[in-house]
Amino acid sequence: MRTPVFDLLDQLVDSCQDNRDGQVAQYIPELADADPEKLALALCTPDGRVYTSGDAEHEFTMQSISKPFTYALALRDRGLDRVLQSVDVEPSGNAFNEISLDSRGRAKNPMINIGAITTYALAGDDDMTAGDRLEHVLDGLSQFAGRELSVAEDVYQSELSTGWRNLALAALMKGNDLLVGEPQDAMHGYTRACAINVDARDVAVMGMTLATGGVNPLTKKRVIPQWVARQVLSVMTTCGMYDSAGDWLSRVGIPAKSGVSGGVLGALPGQVGIGAFSPRLDRFGNSVRGVKIYERLSHQLGLHIMNTP
Ligand code: GLN
Repeated sequence: MRTPVFDLLDQLVDSCQDNRDGQVAQYIPELADADPEKLALALCTPDGRVYTSGDAEHEFTMQSISKPFTYALALRDRGLDRVLQSVDVEPSGNAFNEISLDSRGRAKNPMINIGAITTYALAGDDDMTAGDRLEHVLDGLSQFAGRELSVAEDVYQSELSTGWRNLALAALMKGNDLLVGEPQDAMHGYTRACAINVDARDVAVMGMTLATGGVNPLTKKRVIPQWVARQVLSVMTTCGMYDSAGDWLSRVGIPAKSGVSGGVLGALPGQVGIGAFSPRLDRFGNSVRGVKIYERLSHQLGLHIMNTP
């Protein structure tokens, strides 16, 4: 049934369609082939209703949108203190692939590559093989989505062929004695998690699972404890949009995470999960039309987290 929500989403998608600013990510060969015209928006409500517009069933790889979810699994599996020993929660002020460490050698936060690779290796327990850990993470992310997700092997292979910097970041953390297992396993596993396929609808459901405090709105199953959801949403708020997190928070005001394939995950506590997708990126690595559509959505529905009554 058509509702005013569908009309609003269509109107938002239409209003951004003609924006051709930015460039599709080039540094992962397979991503450079993405269709730059795709544009999708999806919302999920606490009771599991999903509203979509545009290319909402077009699949893309999660890339950095996977980071909040592997962070959530690491927190659930190891506890906050153990995760904080290796990965802090401070904004880095640097690009996502920089060597951003604090004075103790910890990664600055789990939303940049060095922190996310370290976090990936903390999901599960010490007895897991690299294969077990990958299964564990894929299964965990599938629980957030409420359906079985899979890895785009072509994108994974493509990123592996150019992933030297990520391997170096993993080795650096090993050198600091803060990485569980082998650097190669952590880098390969992290890269596979980045190559998990989703569509905008999945992203909205995954966002709502964080925004409910950890219960998937479709399956009604608890995926993570409430304290973990709060921790993840907090770090998304301060570190989720790379080096434009401050601008994003003041303009849009929704805890969010973007990825280089063009996806933007949003999660407004207790209210809504949001998925947007459009491949052209701005200079920070955020989707140009994704950012625009969130700005307009937040404004029109009054979603800014700092709005006062
Ligand atoms: N897999 C990508 C990388 O490690 C993810 C980066 C991103 O989305 N910003 O470079």
